[in-house]
Amino acid sequence: MIDGDVFINGSWVTRSAAQISVFDRGFIFGDGIYEVIPIYNRKHFLANEHLGRLDRSAKSIGINNPYNQAQWMEIVEKAITTIDSEKQKVYIQLTRGVAPRAHSFPDNITPTVVVFSDPLTEQTEVQAQAGTAVITLPDIRWLRGDIKSISLLGAVLASEAAKAAGATEAILIRDEMVSEGASSNVLLAVDGGLISPSINNLVLTGITMLHIKKLCNEGGISFSEQPVSEQQLRDASEIMISSATREVMAVTNLDGKSVGDGNCGKLCSRLSELYRDSITEFLAS
Ligand code: PMP
Repeated sequence: MIDGDVFINGSWVTRSAAQISVFDRGFIFGDGIYEVIPIYNRKHFLANEHLGRLDRSAKSIGINNPYNQAQWMEIVEKAITTIDSEKQKVYIQLTRGVAPRAHSFPDNITPTVVVFSDPLTEQTEVQAQAGTAVITLPDIRWLRGDIKSISLLGAVLASEAAKAAGATEAILIRDEMVSEGASSNVLLAVDGGLISPSINNLVLTGITMLHIKKLCNEGGISFSEQPVSEQQLRDASEIMISSATREVMAVTNLDGKSVGDGNCGKLCSRLSELYRDSITEFLAS
């Protein structure tokens, strides 16, 4: 059982005592945003980038970010001490706060902050080599995928459909174009380089994807963001998904058909290696 304490509006409380009002707008309307920061050897990885996106998400929906970067770091660092795992994922949620139920924003509302940490399970070597199965589904989500909103019903339903189909992720398609995964970004190997769907209002700018882009730039692997069609996805020799908790993962089966030879491809192996090395380097720094 995970029993790390939960940060609620300035206090650390046990999980069973962690409660918020039913009138919290996060509960009533899904009116809030969140972040997930990966932790290795009890050190936060790319936390500045994740906290930067938290701030942008909050601003984009008019929530006042109650803490500065240093204060957030302190809370994240404390969260890491609450559970007994070397690898963790720190979850941060910020909602507009508690108010009588009415759609429009109340005046002078104080945001609700919740932070806790859970263990992070990384893929084993065998799992990484085997890759994962993914299905495609229509992208029925709202048009502001660039905001890391807690209103995740579209992603929840897509993830559940993937699970029911024996897959671990759904790649979402809108007007015959690839947006992203339900909880990941999508990368394709094309002509020895990587392509990723253009970052626009439909897609979350993945911190992991940006890190992979940097690793590609440093490693002489071409990386381009461009519109990606469903056909390109189906024709790709390698497909990968990325997120803070999945890192970079090979998609070896798409809608029940093998991708490439059905194993993690050459480029994905290389990227996984670069990714691991970058974590090792970070931990040594
Ligand atoms: N897109 C969506 C819809 C996601 O939920 C996530 C994971 N939070 C990502 C992309 C990947 O983002 P990151 O690499 O920052 O975890």
